[in-house]
Amino acid sequence: MTARIIDGKTIAAELRGRVADAAHRLARDRTLVPGLAVVLVGNNPASEVYVGSKTKATVGSGMRSFDHRLPANVSEADLLTLVGRLNRDPVVHGILVQLPLPAHIDSQKVLAAIDPAKDVDGFHPVNLGRLAAGLPALAPCTPLGCVILAKTVRPSLEGLEAVIIGRSNIVGKPLALLLLGENATVTVAHSRTEDLPEVCRRADLVFAAVGRPEFVRKGWIKPGATVIDVGITRVPGAGGKSKLLGDVAFAEASEVAGAITPVPGGVGPMTISCLLANTVRAACMQAGLPTPDFSRLSPDESMRD
Ligand code: NAP
Repeated sequence: MTARIIDGKTIAAELRGRVADAAHRLARDRTLVPGLAVVLVGNNPASEVYVGSKTKATVGSGMRSFDHRLPANVSEADLLTLVGRLNRDPVVHGILVQLPLPAHIDSQKVLAAIDPAKDVDGFHPVNLGRLAAGLPALAPCTPLGCVILAKTVRPSLEGLEAVIIGRSNIVGKPLALLLLGENATVTVAHSRTEDLPEVCRRADLVFAAVGRPEFVRKGWIKPGATVIDVGITRVPGAGGKSKLLGDVAFAEASEVAGAITPVPGGVGPMTISCLLANTVRAACMQAGLPTPDFSRLSPDESMRD
């Protein structure tokens, strides 16, 4: 068997189109233009690129973008004051503080200061708690993207065995909660899990979020399984150039899996689209309007296994 490739770029573009349509309808019918504030502290080059892409995507989807760039030596108190101001600003529906923050700032304190209703990154403990309780919540973008990708292959995840490798607060744990919400049977594996290959082999859905390049091997994958690779690690490549690798040994895993995400071009492109989706959802929730469900895109018939 040769796995079908789950094309994250195309799926992310479709999601972005749906988000832009929803934003357009809100502006036309409700005079509500969703607004996203992005706070960048310092000038980490990777963060600059990421924030630039977010701003472009936000404006391109018909929403307002508010960029706040603060010097690397800004005090924690001044950053908290800005977050407080954005919490109170009615044209700002989503707030994102770009991580990592400089070492003198307590990131957890800053993230906890964001109004949970505007927490479009879904990192606030209130949103994680709401997700755990099965209440409407803003869920973290990368796990949301993983679920949407899996559902393009398997429109219903109900009853499927899902194994997540990794239990971080930003990927593994919220992903487990989202999959439980889809009625999958969920196992969360981590560095202390015994016989990980055997645990993986029973999965219809494998989600790898470890941060170790090509960690998941062919023999770990049940034939026909759907494999979603969250990992991104930059490694030295040919000719002195670097390249990105996922957590799954892509070439060999593709010989067994039914469908698989590539790295790059799989989960990565979904993150910004899910951020925009969360911004529209946050704007609707704050206005007391029904929130659109972006979790299901048109299933790719060619990709059903
Ligand atoms: P993390 O916080 O470092 O968590 C890694 C997880 O992997 C931990 O739960 C750890 O277990 C587990 N792990 C480590 N070694 C293991 C082993 N030998 N066997 C089994 N489990 C093991 O990482 P993260 O933030 O979740 O990110 C994971 C990967 O996803 C990274 O490559 C990151 O770059 C990528 N990522 C991509 C996106 C995106 O595409 N937009 C977003 C976020 C993250 P313990 O808990 O026991 O230590």
